[in-house]
Amino acid sequence: MDDFENYVGQSVHIERLRSEFAEGTFTHAYLFAGPVGTGKKSVARLCAMTALCRGEHRPCGVCGPCRRVLAETHPDVHVLRPAAGKREIAVGQMRELLKEADVHTFEDGVKVFLIPEAEKMNAASQNTLLKTLEEPASNTVFLLTTVHLSALLPTVVSRCRLIRFHPLTDEETAARLRALGVPEEQVGVRARIAEGCVGQALAVEEKVITLRNEMAEQFFAVHSLADIPDIVNRYKDRKDDRQILLDLFEEIVREILLSQAGRQEPVTLPQTARNYARAVPLEGGLALRERILEARKMVQSNVAFQSVLETVLIKISEEYTRWPW
Ligand SMILES: [Zn+2]
Repeated sequence: MDDFENYVGQSVHIERLRSEFAEGTFTHAYLFAGPVGTGKKSVARLCAMTALCRGEHRPCGVCGPCRRVLAETHPDVHVLRPAAGKREIAVGQMRELLKEADVHTFEDGVKVFLIPEAEKMNAASQNTLLKTLEEPASNTVFLLTTVHLSALLPTVVSRCRLIRFHPLTDEETAARLRALGVPEEQVGVRARIAEGCVGQALAVEEKVITLRNEMAEQFFAVHSLADIPDIVNRYKDRKDDRQILLDLFEEIVREILLSQAGRQEPVTLPQTARNYARAVPLEGGLALRERILEARKMVQSNVAFQSVLETVLIKISEEYTRWPW
């Protein structure tokens, strides 16, 4: 199960958060700020679980309240997001939410309000929330998370306990994963895919790791145009996975770029990809990354996935031809 300790490196306040929620000494509002993928929403959910958990070691992850928080069906946990198709959290939505703050709780007497994309509250919503934050009800906690702290009114920020979240370096993530007992052969790959978030690194499924390694192996075995159809045939029917395939490939190329730039050995890559990293200079790797961006645009424009794959693989074969190896 996900736990606070998975996020220790993301913020210096993780242990304090855990104990405040376990002991019921939490304050009325928290604001978690930091880049995407640093565990803010996961930690907010863990706080909610801990406040409501009935297990012995909170959060236990298995009691009724914990499971209801995870399934977003707990009657005392309210999540506020923009309405379907809307960009902003409207003031009407905020008023509805705050009405709940005045109603008695259903279960253990704690009410939790989660606002996962707090930057989407418009000014009127924020001002409405502010009145509640200025006169907090007991046993009520607001957990706001945001990637754009500057989009929030300074008055709202000052009414919350601000906790900053940071990405980890690959090395820090790897060290955390080792400490959590992840097998050594998976540490590097998981750390890279998750881009500095231990929680995400743990959540990466084995099949994604396998796919990533197969892709790196096969894509970089393309040395000439004649090698392309075989690889395209293996992947062209995975249209539904096209986003994850491009994400994984971009991550693979990022590791290659670091190697080409002399920053770090491509330790998580198979031999074919290492050969490419050695044979092709940084300039070629950068051109390949550009090609991935083009491929993403092709996907957005509903170009056949076969053509998307071809455009990427052609670039790899061009680079092999261009540079002696
Ligand atoms: Zn529990």
